[in-house]
Amino acid sequence: MKKEFDAGRLDVTAFAQAGALLEAQEPLRAFERLQAEAVSSELPAEVRWCARGEWRAGSGGAGAPWLHVQAEATVPLTCQRCLLPLAAKLEADRWFRFVADEETAAFEDEEAEEDVLVASKSFDLRELVEDELLMEMPVAPRHEVCPEAVPMSVQDADFDAAEAERPKPFAALAQLKKKPGPEG
Ligand SMILES: [Zn+2]
Repeated sequence: MKKEFDAGRLDVTAFAQAGALLEAQEPLRAFERLQAEAVSSELPAEVRWCARGEWRAGSGGAGAPWLHVQAEATVPLTCQRCLLPLAAKLEADRWFRFVADEETAAFEDEEAEEDVLVASKSFDLRELVEDELLMEMPVAPRHEVCPEAVPMSVQDADFDAAEAERPKPFAALAQLKKKPGPEG
C-alpha cells in the first residue's frame, strides 16, 4: 500500500524508510513569513520545493532518517540602488539528519556537517522550507543592471566625446618608445 505523506504533518521516519518524495509549487502568499518580506508588485511571487527521504545506516548500526530539501523562491523585493521592484531568486539546498531527542540534536548539530533535527511524527516540512528560504533573503537586494538607463545615456555620450579628444597616455608612451634613445 502506498502511504500518503502530508508536508504539514510529516512522519519523518516513515518518509525516510519509504524513500518518499514530496514536491510542490505554491504561491508566495502560502508562506506567511516570506510574503511579509515581499513588496507588492506585478512580478512573479512563488515557491517551488521538493524533499526526499532517505534511510541511512549510522555509525551505531541502527540507521537514521535523512531528508534532502531543495527549494527556490521568487520574491519581489525593492532594489537598494534604484528603488524599483526586482524579482529576487532565493535558493536553498540542504541535508538534514533526524535524531530521537532535543539533547542529542543539540549535541550532534555542533559536530555534524548536516543539520541535525529532532524526529517527529508530525514534522512541519513547509515550515522548514520557509526557514531555509528566509536564510537566503538578501540583505541589500540590487538589480544586476537597474532598468533606469535613459537619462544616463545622454551624459555617457558627452563623456565619450570628451574622452575621445583627450590624448591617450599609452599612445603617447608608444611614440616615445619609437624614438631612438641615447643608447640606441
Ligand atoms: Zn535597481
